[in-house]
Amino acid sequence: MGNNIDTLCVHGAEDRNNSTGAVTVPVYQSATFAHPGVGQSTGYDYSRLQNPTREVLEKTIAMLEGGCDAMAFSSGMAAMAVLCELFAPGDRVIASEDLYGGSVRLLDNVVGKNGVGVDYLDTGSIEDVRSAIRPETKAVFVETPTNPTMRITDIAAISAICKECGLLLIVDSTFLTPVYLRPLALGADIVLHSGTKYLGGHNDTLAGFLITASAGLSEKLRFLYKTVGACLAPWDCFLILRGVKTLALRMGRITENARRISAWLEKQPQVADVMYCGQSGMISFKTDNAETAHTILANVKVIRYAESLGGVESLITYPILQTHADVPAAVREALGIDERLLRLSAGIEHADDLIADLEAALNGI
Ligand SMILES: *Cc1c(COP(=O)(O)O)cnc(C)c1O
Repeated sequence: MGNNIDTLCVHGAEDRNNSTGAVTVPVYQSATFAHPGVGQSTGYDYSRLQNPTREVLEKTIAMLEGGCDAMAFSSGMAAMAVLCELFAPGDRVIASEDLYGGSVRLLDNVVGKNGVGVDYLDTGSIEDVRSAIRPETKAVFVETPTNPTMRITDIAAISAICKECGLLLIVDSTFLTPVYLRPLALGADIVLHSGTKYLGGHNDTLAGFLITASAGLSEKLRFLYKTVGACLAPWDCFLILRGVKTLALRMGRITENARRISAWLEKQPQVADVMYCGQSGMISFKTDNAETAHTILANVKVIRYAESLGGVESLITYPILQTHADVPAAVREALGIDERLLRLSAGIEHADDLIADLEAALNGI
């Protein structure tokens, strides 16, 4: 089997020895599994622990990220919530300062309540990370590029500091996917994905993943996984597996579209600032004033005004009212998340149609 990511996406961990010759994985819609005898197991006991459909998905995602194990959750936030159970009261975590808004809500309101402190800073600055490390610091949590202002963190450089200080490095790699970034190969310990986004890719299924670099971490997280029960249902595993088959193909087209759109946006007099990292489909941009932002949202026709990202359909969001509504106003202001900021997720439609749609919307047509 080829090792190129395009081939891994299509074939992943498929079971070629299944007795029916089925080319795609069956949906094992079974909550429980009968035992062949006392003290014996088929390898499956109860679907909260493991399910054959989920197992193929998890192994496929682990292969794509180069991890030793992957766990499939019912959403990205479920994965994040279980991940945070690794920490105990008194621990501190360093986190990128413009994370996905839901991650900030979880860290500030749930993880914080459990006695875990978070130090937000620009993880793009190695010096800032280094000087924030205290004896209680247990981990660095990075999103790259950040959300929504697309700032980049050097994973290899942060990993070197984490190894030196005995900290876990956790990377939310939702935006770049294993097509463009494999954090574990750069020294990260855990990768988190909202599988709802590019991995699933069709805006039809919620999912989340944790991928681990070591058996020790996998053992700790698997214990939490089976205990908490935020596992992905068999049918949803099937849908995500089907989405993953076209991941590399989609990412290529999406990147092509996003490059063309961001180049076009740069030339528009009503657009002040275009933030695009050059890969994947996420573009943030500022309009000259709030009214222009509202005009675009009210008039796009091919592109939908909706939360979320990473699907075949292009979506545009208004971070101040949607993804980042729960981020404290002062923090939003400092990060530049204001009434002029829009975030576009390029889909796989024709770039000409997307640009024509934005052009008409900008002019209120
Ligand atoms: C959407 C998102 C999440 C949360 O995932 P859900 O599947 O919506 O629960 C976490 N991180 C990033 C970067 C996201 O875009």
